[in-house]
Amino acid sequence: MSNLAANFPAALAAVRARIAAACAAAGRDPATVRLLPVTKNHPAEAVALAAAAGFEAVGENRVQEAVAKQAECAAQGVRVRWELIGHLQSNKAKLAARHFDRVQSVENTKLLDVLDREAAAAGRVLPVLLQINAGNDPAKFGAEPADAPALLEHALGKRALRIEGLMTIAPLSDDPEVARRTFANLRTIRDQLVARFGVNLSELSMGMTGDLAAAIAEGSTMIRVGTALFGERTPPAAAG
Ligand SMILES: *Cc1c(COP(=O)(O)O)cnc(C)c1O
Repeated sequence: MSNLAANFPAALAAVRARIAAACAAAGRDPATVRLLPVTKNHPAEAVALAAAAGFEAVGENRVQEAVAKQAECAAQGVRVRWELIGHLQSNKAKLAARHFDRVQSVENTKLLDVLDREAAAAGRVLPVLLQINAGNDPAKFGAEPADAPALLEHALGKRALRIEGLMTIAPLSDDPEVARRTFANLRTIRDQLVARFGVNLSELSMGMTGDLAAAIAEGSTMIRVGTALFGERTPPAAAG
């Protein structure tokens, strides 16, 4: 058995225990927090392990890497939904609109335009999340909070896109309060958008291996976890 497979059951149990503890501390039902296994920089075997454990979706951050893995998984009869969580360039949006079941990293109107056009051409409605730089982190992608209303307004005009909520990545920091403030800010932005536009933005995708408890405390509905489930990643030689 590979190391990945040997370590996965205990790693999954440990993550589930962290989720349960964070939910108990926050007075939340663990059924309201979904765990999205992040399989980026790990082989298709990681996807197969997640699927066998009952997960219906995985997260990937590079379009080409995911497309290659999707082919491997299909050949092995492994069926999951694929969520794009990484930075998306508009020249890859056509491929993304055809190969992902949801795109979480939509951060500007140009991406909305291209994804909408390509989803329509493929005859589908593509679920998306708007990525917001809720921690005002110069090193992170995402729309600036002040631009969120205009971005949502633009998104709501797209007939081939379904806007399901918001996503953020907290700034790297030794201070856990930084992540917590970022997540609280995303929730506030969501609540303001819902009040202003009268739409349903139920998904709050926030929290990763290092900050999932803070995210759950602030209302995360989806935590995206890679390292704690599959171990450290070997970064790919070239961006794809
Ligand atoms: C890699 C990644 C994750 C998972 O990060 P871990 O710290 O390994 O859990 C979550 N979200 C995004 C957007 C990522 O790129």
